[in-house]
Amino acid sequence: MTAVATSVVAPRGRSRDPRGAGRRWRTALCLVAALAVGGCGVPASPPSAAEPVAQPVSASLTAAVRPSATTKPLTGRTIVVDPGHNGKYRKSFNTKKVPAGNGRKKACNSSGTAGKGLSEHAYNWAQAKLLKKELEKRGATVLLTRTNDSGLGPCVDKRAKVANDARADLLISIHADGNYAKKARGFHIIVSKTMAGGSELEKKSKQLAKLVRAELKEHTSMPRSTYIGRGTALSPRSDIATLNLLKRTPGIMMEMGNMRNSKDLKLMKSKAFRKQVAVALADAAEQTLTS
Ligand SMILES: [Zn+2]
Repeated sequence: MTAVATSVVAPRGRSRDPRGAGRRWRTALCLVAALAVGGCGVPASPPSAAEPVAQPVSASLTAAVRPSATTKPLTGRTIVVDPGHNGKYRKSFNTKKVPAGNGRKKACNSSGTAGKGLSEHAYNWAQAKLLKKELEKRGATVLLTRTNDSGLGPCVDKRAKVANDARADLLISIHADGNYAKKARGFHIIVSKTMAGGSELEKKSKQLAKLVRAELKEHTSMPRSTYIGRGTALSPRSDIATLNLLKRTPGIMMEMGNMRNSKDLKLMKSKAFRKQVAVALADAAEQTLTS
């Protein structure tokens, strides 16, 4: 296919050479065949010293012959990024009960935790926006479950609904934890063991979690959790509505660090760390959706 794209020769001043003319016609037919059916059995001959130098085909024609050269890896994919919690907390709104999956109900949304000088919802929002940008750079369509860090909602069931309605390829929920235990630090990843989509979806989600764990090790200095998951940094749960209610979309919930730990908090405040997390999560998403 590449030979075709560079060998169309204008038959200027060569009409008395029947062999050359035949070769040129064959080359032209080859190009038509390549465009029509994606290939040609006869490779175009390289131009000899006696022939005029081949003129490159136009850029648009080259693009038509070689579409993969410009396609980004996540083109055509839809990824839901869920910045956990919301900017405001209003008791009457946040405590109303909503479906949580597996027949249970739970409060619409909790207020989230906080570290000194940084609230969880603000970290989640900033981190989600960076991830959105990174995924879009790779061609993905990204849906955020909330559009600002100043309003109420949506409730946790609605966050899953965004992915279900869009038939999204992945959901990544961003949170940070708040644990007062001494020396408790590090990230962990929550996966659901009671997803609406069943055991296959749970398996895919766990695979995504493991890829994320490896990418975080490669790109960041945040350690695995010292207090959840017994060294695996994985936390299977059945009470997370945003994951439980997913019907076809593999999903995970990140707890990016412990905001009550000064080392973790320092990282989560750093722009460099946030950028590294965005790249790590996007790399894991890309591996999941392109392998
Ligand atoms: Zn949270």
